[in-house]
Amino acid sequence: MLYGALEAGGTKMVLAVGDENGKILEQISIPTVSPEVTMPEIINWFKDKDIAALGIAAFGPIDLDRNSETYGSFTTTPKLKWANYNIVKAMKDALHIPVGFDTDVNGSLLGEVTYGQAKGLSDAVYITIGTGIGGGVMSNGKLVHGMLHPELGHMKMIPYPGDTYKGHCPYHCNCIEGMAAGPAIEERWGKKAIELKDDEKVWDMEAYYIAQAITNIILIMSPQIIILGGGVMHQEQLFPLIRSKVKELLNDYIKTSEIQDIDNYIVPASLNDDQGIMGCIKLAIDEKALEG
Ligand code: ADP
Ligand code: ZN
Repeated sequence: MLYGALEAGGTKMVLAVGDENGKILEQISIPTVSPEVTMPEIINWFKDKDIAALGIAAFGPIDLDRNSETYGSFTTTPKLKWANYNIVKAMKDALHIPVGFDTDVNGSLLGEVTYGQAKGLSDAVYITIGTGIGGGVMSNGKLVHGMLHPELGHMKMIPYPGDTYKGHCPYHCNCIEGMAAGPAIEERWGKKAIELKDDEKVWDMEAYYIAQAITNIILIMSPQIIILGGGVMHQEQLFPLIRSKVKELLNDYIKTSEIQDIDNYIVPASLNDDQGIMGCIKLAIDEKALEG
């Protein structure tokens, strides 16, 4: 049986067809313009693919409450052309198949938990550090939604000593997204993150903010693994810095085997940047099982 996958990002849409093992058979990506321009292209591509169900992992905030009239919509997204647009309804109306839906980061987490390094774990967190910062959370084997969905990227930060940067988030200034996402690095230092590769201070500060967020997440959610993805995490020197700062912040308060073996606890994504699209396949499989 074939399944469709749609990773809806703010800059691009990734469309794929895969099988129940998460194997991707065909994939394209198109720019995210507006519902009027982009949706007909997406529908056209999936129309003849003979897929049994579709899984969508989308940028947010989105309405994931199945009892809500607006279930399946983007809500207060700053990408204004998409605000209040119901992408699930649009795809269901066009394709007449079950459509699974979750956040982009829950999608990536689901990919890692189903097909990647977090297979078999019941409690896991996936954080992306890119244009924005977001986190997907699985607790007791279930992706966490709650009243909306976790918004880890907006937790408040204690500033790095001497960091006077006011922060990039229009809502909270110095939340982690405001202090540590790609655009914050670029605005603070006046250069693109990738051009700052050799500047130790930049990455020490970056690791400080990420470690602070991770420490809070460990204390609140007690995950069995923390997976870091997104463009900024291509700076691999961040990993040892983050791990040692997390240890420092925990200050030996938590002494599990996972924390002792922190190199295998705070880890890069394992699926070659396909974790999101593979997670969409699993969303499709689960929705098919649910709706029959
Ligand atoms: P998005 O978050 O838009 O889906 P990415 O995860 O690729 O996309 O994140 C883009 C951000 O990551 C940009 O701010 C960019 O400057 C930064 N970035 C991309 N590649 C690198 C890299 N190799 N090193 C550091 N920063 C990077
Ligand atoms: Zn914020």
